[in-house]
Amino acid sequence: MANYNPKNFLILAVDDNSINRILLEKLLKKEGYKMTILSSSEEVIPYLNKVTPDLILLDLMMPNINGLELCESIKINPNLQEIPIIFITASDEKKDLLKAFDLGAVDYITKPFHNQELLARVKNHLELKFTRDELRKALIELEKLAKTDELTGISNRRHFIALAQREFNLAKRQKRDFSLLILDIDYFKKINDTYGHPIGDKVIQFVARKCVDCLRQEDLCARWGGEEFIVFLSETTLEGAIMAADRIRISIENGTIEIEDYKISVTVSIGISVYNPDDANVNQTISRGDMALYRAKNNGRNRVEN
Ligand code: GH3
Ligand code: MG
Ligand code: MG
Repeated sequence: MANYNPKNFLILAVDDNSINRILLEKLLKKEGYKMTILSSSEEVIPYLNKVTPDLILLDLMMPNINGLELCESIKINPNLQEIPIIFITASDEKKDLLKAFDLGAVDYITKPFHNQELLARVKNHLELKFTRDELRKALIELEKLAKTDELTGISNRRHFIALAQREFNLAKRQKRDFSLLILDIDYFKKINDTYGHPIGDKVIQFVARKCVDCLRQEDLCARWGGEEFIVFLSETTLEGAIMAADRIRISIENGTIEIEDYKISVTVSIGISVYNPDDANVNQTISRGDMALYRAKNNGRNRVEN
């Protein structure tokens, strides 16, 4: 780890023995770690409900609730189970240590502990946890990027097809309705030619926002291609689809995009496709939407066809 800094980590140490508590606190604080020291296991869960340390050092033998029992109750809590637990134990009974690993502990240190060894193990597990957390964050970010259209922030084509096919399968199994809208900005080439590509991009962002604003939370709106969008309307028949399409069309027609000194207005043409139980896959439903869009263009644009 490039910039390992103990100051960035909070360690919780739990031990009923006051000498051990003092030794642990002195050693780890001197190294730069932030520390919380608790003297009884009863205090641990209430503390963890408020604060999430990066690592726990847990005494194995404690009165009332022993370290193993405490470890078990930490590990069954989904909010806490990622915190690495290292046992500190005077017992060299292998049975207890195996149980500790079974319960999800990452390591153990025997008492009386050797300072440098304890520090090395703590650092090792904090580095591992840090790396794992970073990887997880990067993976979540990557998954989000893979689903999102960069320009508009709405879903991209690939994500739409994946979700739409899943919804299609569900509709088929449960004999439910759904409809699709395919939108295309009218004479968009003229916008680019007149105002330039960057302003064309702003117009695309405007249309995406208008679509999302006109839809229900459960509807999915995606960028289908350049200046084309696609919408999945769940539980929706032709009547509802026409209403949604007109709502979007009128809201875009009435909107004005003010950029620099320009006031730009655009319209969209929309093709509707209603799910037909004979459709073999969602691409067939989409194709009908494409054909309806083509008719909307041919019949004069700024209109809805099905
Ligand atoms: P129609 O009314 O028949 O839809 O005409 P149109 O001009 O909108 O259609 P056409 O398909 O001829 O032009 C679409 C244009 O959209 C062409 C392309 O350069 C532009 N375009 C595609 N993607 C983007 C983009 O991400 N940003 C910008 N600014 N323009 C784009
Ligand atoms: Mg187009
Ligand atoms: Mg167009």
